[in-house]
Amino acid sequence: VIEIQHLSKSFGTHEVLTDIDFSVNKGEVVSIIGSSGSGKSTLLRCVNLLEKPTGGQIIYNGENILDDHHDHNEYRIKLGMVFQQFNLFNNHDVLGNCVIGQTKVLKRTKAEAEKIALKYLNVVGMDQYIHAKPRHLSGGQKQRVAIARALSMEPDVMLFDEPTSALDPEMVGEVLTIMKELAESGLTMLIVTHEMEFAKDVSDRVVFMDQGIIAEEGTPEQIFNHPKEVRTREFLRRTL
Ligand code: ATP
Ligand code: MG
Repeated sequence: VIEIQHLSKSFGTHEVLTDIDFSVNKGEVVSIIGSSGSGKSTLLRCVNLLEKPTGGQIIYNGENILDDHHDHNEYRIKLGMVFQQFNLFNNHDVLGNCVIGQTKVLKRTKAEAEKIALKYLNVVGMDQYIHAKPRHLSGGQKQRVAIARALSMEPDVMLFDEPTSALDPEMVGEVLTIMKELAESGLTMLIVTHEMEFAKDVSDRVVFMDQGIIAEEGTPEQIFNHPKEVRTREFLRRTL
């Protein structure tokens, strides 16, 4: 679905990403792991153009979307994003949060949007809370709504940036369970996570980043059980 080629990103003179190459195929779950500051969030933000890459290409449906003439909005609609901080609209209820993007951006009717929203709120187990305001929800519930909101846009790829790292420990499980179900349903997912057991369990491929480069990439079996690179081994020893 998405192919990243020779992507680089600098902030001023500080090069944060160097020559990043990887792809996410349809139906695949790819996890990005690595130490704090290794560039995982920046990479995800480059993929959805929240940051403008300094170099390289992002190929989507055979076209380099970094070409000047390319319609970035059309591309970004196709990516669902779930952040560490849920970024829900506090003045809208749960249903409203899942409807607003559909009506404003996709121009769906309110009735159609509500039907789709309910479908995905059901998927994440939040259909009993449609009239609740975000402030009355737990962190885990908010994140499930954020996932339903992104799914309601029916994206080609879902991007997750540490979706459980702002949660109290007792709520991590409910969100990971939903994500695992989505993975098994065939959704295409690119996930930055520090939940190593989860990454090992659900990923088709794991990308290990170190200091702005992809140090190693492989199946969970390769990366977690037979890492080739010394720095992968050291990272895993520190985190597992
Ligand atoms: P973490 O695990 O802590 O979330 P990360 O792997 O997501 O870390 P990034 O947030 O991508 O790492 O940051 C990579 C590097 O880029 C860091 O050195 C960071 O200071 C730098 N950086 C990120 N965003 C900016 C910015 N807007 N301006 C300048 N430097 C930035
Ligand atoms: Mg980050």
